Amino acid sequence: MAEIAILGAGLRGLYIAYELEKQGHICTVFESSKRIGGALVSTRNSSGFLTEDGAHTLLINSEKIESLIQELDGLKQDIIEPDSQKLNRYILRNNQLNPLQPNPIALLKTPLLSLKAKFKLFSESFRKKQTIDTNISLYDFFAKHFGTECTDYLLDPFIAGTYAGDPKKLSARHTFPKLVKASQSNGSIIRSILSNKNRFKNKIVSFKEGLVQLPIALSQSLKQKPITETELLQITQEDQRWKVEFQTGKHSPEQRIFDTVYSTIPAHKTHTLPLADSVKNTLPDFNSVEHPPVTVLSLGFHTDQFKKPLSGFGYLIPTKEKQDYLGVLFTSAIFKNRAPKNHSLITVFIGGSRNPNMASLSEPELISTVYPKIQNCLQIKGDPAFSYSRYWEHSIPQYHVAYDNVIDQIDHFENSYPNFYLSGNYRNGIALGDCFSDFNSPI
Ligand SMILES: Cc1cc2nc3c(=O)[nH]c(=O)nc-3n(C[C@H](O)[C@H](O)[C@H](O)COP(=O)(O)OP(=O)(O)OC[C@H]3O[C@@H](n4cnc5c(N)ncnc54)[C@H](O)[C@@H]3O)c2cc1C
Repeated sequence: MAEIAILGAGLRGLYIAYELEKQGHICTVFESSKRIGGALVSTRNSSGFLTEDGAHTLLINSEKIESLIQELDGLKQDIIEPDSQKLNRYILRNNQLNPLQPNPIALLKTPLLSLKAKFKLFSESFRKKQTIDTNISLYDFFAKHFGTECTDYLLDPFIAGTYAGDPKKLSARHTFPKLVKASQSNGSIIRSILSNKNRFKNKIVSFKEGLVQLPIALSQSLKQKPITETELLQITQEDQRWKVEFQTGKHSPEQRIFDTVYSTIPAHKTHTLPLADSVKNTLPDFNSVEHPPVTVLSLGFHTDQFKKPLSGFGYLIPTKEKQDYLGVLFTSAIFKNRAPKNHSLITVFIGGSRNPNMASLSEPELISTVYPKIQNCLQIKGDPAFSYSRYWEHSIPQYHVAYDNVIDQIDHFENSYPNFYLSGNYRNGIALGDCFSDFNSPI
């Protein structure tokens, strides 16, 4: 049984505490802010709209995540799952929303892609195994498999909607490791996916009162609740253990000794940890990791304002279309209880690596510049009845092509300090599901 300190009560920190407590360890979770959940912030507004500041959907893509949700008290009955099969996703091209369904017949029919691009897409399934340099960008990797048009109109908007990133800068190996492995072992990504008969049937979900229910349920199941509003004053090594001095709210400073520390605070904040200079100097150069700014703008309407009822998942915009926003989720069409009766809610994503400066515009500026384009696309009459926005100065860590260097530096740090782990979303993936990835055992 070890005494463990976990820095950060986001989904990752709470998951590590949850698993380690099950193994019989004693975990103290330190959180600097007043609330737990980190990037998961769900708010039911007084007018009845339920907004999310950050993540909107959790992809359940493994038995492990599915069973975790089942075993957390009070969570499984609150799962809400859209009928994904019926929800069209759209890609904007030439100011038109083109439906995109991941089935061969729909892909053959879609006006989104030229005949040549469709041919290139389908011919990938005959691709022979070949040696490729895997230390390449996601853009180059996809273009080698599917051609540039499919990369520009399928991959690029998808990456805007997940990483808020630029596929020309992201590393193929670090962002889509499974696809790169499939390409290496099989030659064709399509063939490899089709031949995997044991594929888990992925589900996109949220919860009745939003995704924040997940960290709340994890936190409630902990024997020792996270200590919020806590400032870490000093973290020092003592006889191979770590002494953490901290102050909670207006209480007097305290100190505790731990066998192992897990830091799950965001990469761009890791250098602010109060460590001795010698330890700090060994930390990875996280300042070199791009975290583009993003604004998430929620807009609510009376359903009468829509010429056609809002239906579908939302739309994403390829870089080539030169728009100043990344895409729109049809939030209340995905999850029914996001808007009051006779109202609809959409969520607009602005900024990212593509247009970082747009993210810092004020809410009225965003409504006056971006909303008219959305209004035109979705044929909405009049102004939004409700608006709410959240600016993320540092949104999502971008795993660029040279990300091996960052991973090497993380390994070097952990080899130098074997009972201090760096376990944030700069490591095993940026999706919520990746917060449930395995972690090193405590020492
Ligand atoms: C705008 C946006 C949209 C997203 N959309 C999706 C989506 O739809 N689906 C999806 O799967 N993923 C999405 N993501 C990604 C996902 O939300 C994050 O990768 C994930 O929530 C990260 O969790 P975490 O616990 O690693 O970090 P965080 O949630 O950032 O938690 C870190 C915690 O550390 C705390 N902390 C910071 N400094 C200190 C300190 N000095 N001492 C103590 N505590 C500290 C913070 O307050 C925070 O609570 C999105 C992210 C953003 C920003």
